[in-house]
Amino acid sequence: MRDVLLLFGMQGSGKGTQGKRIKERYGGFTDIIVGQLLREKAKTDKDMEMLMKTGDLFPDEIVEDVTEKKIDTLSSGEKILFDGFPRSESQLLMFERLAAKYQFHTVALNILINEEESLVRLRKRYVCPKCDYMQVGEGNCPKDGAKLELRIDDTNPEIIKHRIAIFKKDTQPIIDHFKEKGELTEIDGIGSFDEVTERIFKVLDKYYLTRVVK
Ligand SMILES: [Zn+2]
Repeated sequence: MRDVLLLFGMQGSGKGTQGKRIKERYGGFTDIIVGQLLREKAKTDKDMEMLMKTGDLFPDEIVEDVTEKKIDTLSSGEKILFDGFPRSESQLLMFERLAAKYQFHTVALNILINEEESLVRLRKRYVCPKCDYMQVGEGNCPKDGAKLELRIDDTNPEIIKHRIAIFKKDTQPIIDHFKEKGELTEIDGIGSFDEVTERIFKVLDKYYLTRVVK
């Protein structure tokens, strides 16, 4: 059996921050960022490099292959946090194949915020130009002291609306799938980061702290 956590949420839902907090609290998580695995493979593979340059989508077999190879390197107790996967219908089928092969115990969370909230939050989201630190509101990076900046993409309502539209079209059916299977819990994403974290921990404690290991 392999513990697998999937985090969903519209842009601005605080997924990244919550993911970090989850990893800190429970430990033993490995991020599998499919996009990054593909970029790494492209460094040693000419055909892949071409695909990357032309911006074409990678064939599903390649995506599945790199993901499987990564899972094979994990030790037995390690949990997986998938980032940005599955994100399409065909990747969902792939996920199901992997779930059967590796006996995933899947927990999916969807951090719920509405469109308006998403727009408001992205406009107030400040990022560090040096590292990946991010917060709501101005200030300096607590890690390196750099002055935090607004991301231009995040201040453009047209770009944000487009991203939200893609989320609804591509990601929502995947969320619905996990919901129908009874593997997804919805988390109220309104409120401070701390409040949302508390709600998430309440759900995940059941799985990762108090579960009796068989
Ligand atoms: Zn920083």
